[in-house]
Amino acid sequence: MNKETIKKFRNIKTPFYYYDLDILNSTLDILKEESANSGIKLHYALKANPNPRILKQIADYGLGADCVSWNEIDAALKAGIEPSEIVFAGVGKSDEEIENAVKADIFCFNCESIPEMEVINEIASKQNRVTRIALRINPLIEAHTHKYITTGIEESKFGINTWELEDVVKKLKDLQFIQLIGIHFHVGSQITQMSVFQSLCSRINELQEWFSSRNAPLRVINIGGGLGIDYENPENQPKFKEYFSLVKKFIQLKPGQELHFEPGRSVVGQCGSLISRVLYVKPGSNTLFAVLDAGMTDLIRPALYQAYHKIENLTSDGKKLRYDVVGPICESSDTFGKSVYLPETHRGDFIAIRSAGAYGEAMASRYNLRPLPQAVFSDDLQK
Ligand SMILES: *Cc1c(COP(=O)(O)O)cnc(C)c1O
Repeated sequence: MNKETIKKFRNIKTPFYYYDLDILNSTLDILKEESANSGIKLHYALKANPNPRILKQIADYGLGADCVSWNEIDAALKAGIEPSEIVFAGVGKSDEEIENAVKADIFCFNCESIPEMEVINEIASKQNRVTRIALRINPLIEAHTHKYITTGIEESKFGINTWELEDVVKKLKDLQFIQLIGIHFHVGSQITQMSVFQSLCSRINELQEWFSSRNAPLRVINIGGGLGIDYENPENQPKFKEYFSLVKKFIQLKPGQELHFEPGRSVVGQCGSLISRVLYVKPGSNTLFAVLDAGMTDLIRPALYQAYHKIENLTSDGKKLRYDVVGPICESSDTFGKSVYLPETHRGDFIAIRSAGAYGEAMASRYNLRPLPQAVFSDDLQK
C-alpha cells in the first residue's frame, strides 16, 4: 500500500476491507495462464469472498463457480457466470435449494450421500429434467492443516465413504433422473504441503480403476480447492504453476476426461486487507495491548482457526515494540496477534491486517450488534 493510498484512508470510517484490484488481476492472470496451459477448468469457490465487485472481476476472467448455497448460485448468475459453469456442493442442501438449482440447470451437483441423491432424483423427476451429479468422495487423506479446515479424514462429515460406493453405484441404476458424470474431492483448506495433492492423485487413480471395473464412466475429475497462500509474505502469489503441474504429473486421466479445480482462498486471499485504527494502547502485565476498532466480528480467522495474519502499522515508523494486537469484542479469543513487533503505536494509527481477502468479509458477523465492515476498492480511491 503506497503513501497516497494510506492518506486517502483518513477519510474512510474504519474498520473496512481494502481490496487491491490490481493484485486480484495479477492473481487471475497467473491462474488463467497456468490453468489454460494445463487444460484445466476452474470453478471459483464463492464462499471465500462473494463480494459482487470481486465476483464480477472473476466472472469477467471466465471462471465458473463452486457454490454451497442457492444464494451463492444466484450471486454467481447475477455476476454473469453461466449455469453450465456452476457446481453445487455441500453436505446439507435443502429441498428448496435443490429445486432452484435443478430449474436453473446448473452443470453439476456434487453429492455427498445416498439420501441426497434420492432427493435430487425425486425433485428432478417432478421437473421432468435429468440432472447431472458428481460423487463427492471422502478420500481419507490428511491435509496437514488446522483441524477445523480438514475435510477428508475418517471422522469428517463430508463426502461419501469408499465403503459405500458399491451401494451408490447400485442405487444409481434406479435413479432415472440423475446422471453420474464424475467424481469430486476436497480434502481441506490452506494446504501448503504439495505432497497432500500427490496422495490425493494416487487415491483418485485407484478409484478410477474401481469405477472402470463397475462400468461407470466418468467425464469429470474434480480436485476441489485447498491450495494455501503465504500468510507470512502477503506479496507472494499462490503457487498455481507448481500445484497444477504436480496434479497433471501424478493423475492418470482417461481419454476425454476433464480436470476441474475449485480454488477459493488462493484467488482472493492476497488482494484484501482489513484496515483499522488503533483505539487505545494500554499496558498488560508483560506486554502492551494495541486495541483496534476491528474485531473478530470483522475477521474471525485468528479466533476460529488460530490463523496467522501479518499485521502492519501503516502510519508509524518509530522504534519497534512488542504488542498483543486485540479487538474490542467481549471474547478473549478476539486477538489478531500475540507478541507482534510493531513500530511504536499510538491512538489513531492505521493498522493493516494483511491477506484478508478470503474468509474475511465473507465471515463477518454482527455479534455485539456491530455494523458489518464496508468494502473499499483500489480504483474507488484513484478517482
Ligand atoms: C471451501 C471449498 C473450496 C475452496 O477451498 P479453498 O481452500 O478456499 O481453495 C472448494 N471446494 C469445496 C467443496 C469447498 O467446500
